Amino acid sequence: PKLQIALDGPAGAGKSTIAKIVAQQLHLFYVDTGAMYRAIAYKALSSGAPIDDEAKVSQIAKNTEVVLDHSEEQRVWCDGRDVTQEIRSLEVSRAVSVVAAYPEVRKRLVELQRLEAERGGVVMDGRDIGTYVLPEADFKIFLTATHEERAKRRWLELRRAGKDVSLEEVARDMAERDRVDMERAISPLKPAQDAIIMDTTGLSIQELVAKIVELAGG
Ligand code: C5P
Repeated sequence: PKLQIALDGPAGAGKSTIAKIVAQQLHLFYVDTGAMYRAIAYKALSSGAPIDDEAKVSQIAKNTEVVLDHSEEQRVWCDGRDVTQEIRSLEVSRAVSVVAAYPEVRKRLVELQRLEAERGGVVMDGRDIGTYVLPEADFKIFLTATHEERAKRRWLELRRAGKDVSLEEVARDMAERDRVDMERAISPLKPAQDAIIMDTTGLSIQELVAKIVELAGG
């Protein structure tokens, strides 16, 4: 069986940064499941479908091909188009949790996620990896940090990407997204019973990576 590391947690907990480096060091695929939900949200928004039209968005999800490439750049493809940049917009960030709460959307993407884990060892980051997508994962880690720290990290990330938003706005959007993710009926954001909970507040990326790599026996 192939190695599976599940990395879950709320927005801005540092999952993707950590997951990428751990995957590199342990020679595993990095699977960013949030990017898949973002691709569906992006397609729904571009098609002009109202985000709260569950039937329409579910239909769109069924007819969308989402591909994550495992190259250095981690490109995200939606129906053959490179949407790596587009899926990080504020509009997509605001719509994605609504889309991710639809059972049909989740069903389709979870299938893809499990296929990725059959192709090779993975570090998979998301919200429900340890609880639902890979319940037999070798290691389940749930990353947390204070709301302030998470908002600041997200804000710095957006600023680096050239987006002009206030910290307050980022904090508000993030809190709303986490609320929807925790309150949805199907695979909500929560730690698996057997997850190791790691508070990343005040820890450096290097420290966290080292801890996880050590844990996984790398
Ligand atoms: O990880 P990221 O912040 O890019 O995820 C975007 C959104 O996708 C989350 O806020 C959540 O609504 C959804 N998501 C999910 N389940 C996952 C990964 C992401 O519902 N496994």
